Amino acid sequence: MPKQKLDEPLINLSDNHCHFHPEATIEQTLELAKALNDYQYEFPNKFFHLMTTQHIDLECMAVLLDKLENEDIVVPYFGVHPWFSHLFYTSNEKLNKLEHYNSVLSPPPSEELLNLLPEPISIIEHTSKMKDIIKRYNIEVFGIGEIGLDKLFRVPNAGFLGNPNYKNENEKDKLSTSRVKIDHQMNIFKYQLKLANDLQVQASIHCVKAHGILYDEVMKYSNIIVVLHSYTGSIDQARRWLKTKKSNLYFSLSNWINGEKEELLELLANTLNSSQILTESDTYIDKYFIEHKEGEYFNQLIGIFEKLNSYKPIDSLQLKTNMLNSLSIID
Ligand SMILES: [Zn+2]
Repeated sequence: MPKQKLDEPLINLSDNHCHFHPEATIEQTLELAKALNDYQYEFPNKFFHLMTTQHIDLECMAVLLDKLENEDIVVPYFGVHPWFSHLFYTSNEKLNKLEHYNSVLSPPPSEELLNLLPEPISIIEHTSKMKDIIKRYNIEVFGIGEIGLDKLFRVPNAGFLGNPNYKNENEKDKLSTSRVKIDHQMNIFKYQLKLANDLQVQASIHCVKAHGILYDEVMKYSNIIVVLHSYTGSIDQARRWLKTKKSNLYFSLSNWINGEKEELLELLANTLNSSQILTESDTYIDKYFIEHKEGEYFNQLIGIFEKLNSYKPIDSLQLKTNMLNSLSIID
């Protein structure tokens, strides 16, 4: 049976920032591929801007690209999220596990936490895996993400979100007292900004309570397309971005974060140029599609589109143009 076309505005919208579930497995990724292949509606190309955040979802990305009948519906993003930055190191020399975690976590991890943490992962090797995937699937359009800084983040008792080796279901979301030092987060972030800059691609950026230092750092790189995802900084900080980065800057807005902050959303809608706005779900697409909650998923995108439109009229075709523009550097 031929696939049906999505209705407006969905046919013009795109999800500029979405995820695999942190507990996603290869089996679930196979189910996701099947659900997307079998879905009765046709997704427009470049609909899902799908982030990776660590070493496990990178494998899921490879499997998904392998199994999708039309892999062009996905724009893959490659990144180490600040919530997983403690698992990675940037130097050529590997420290031993204890030294590594003692140097990046404050306070240092308890013995219990240390036992759950994996051997530190080389971000250089992680990047070469990314490059292998790009080559293997002949990917022409991709981004760097999710990357960023998060001052509020604390390491979960499980060592990291979705750790498959942590068996205590009831405690898995509890947090330890250890934080990832901001210097370490910054090292991981800088490494990836340089990568995005060298590749001249868009970077999908997460920021919690570190808007000033993040801005200062990002502004050092002139060949990056900046996508501030679910932006929660102040309106003054947004104005600073707009004043100094005249092009290649986008604010990607989600219903569940930005849609809930009506005051900021109204200010953003009135401050940003319509050509700088993107929509995103910032949710786990595998959960929605495997469990056949497609309607709920699409409502996230329609929800933020409608809220934006309640403050100023934005055509869905404009949002489509923005998405396509956000994939290459504009001089
Ligand atoms: Zn995200």
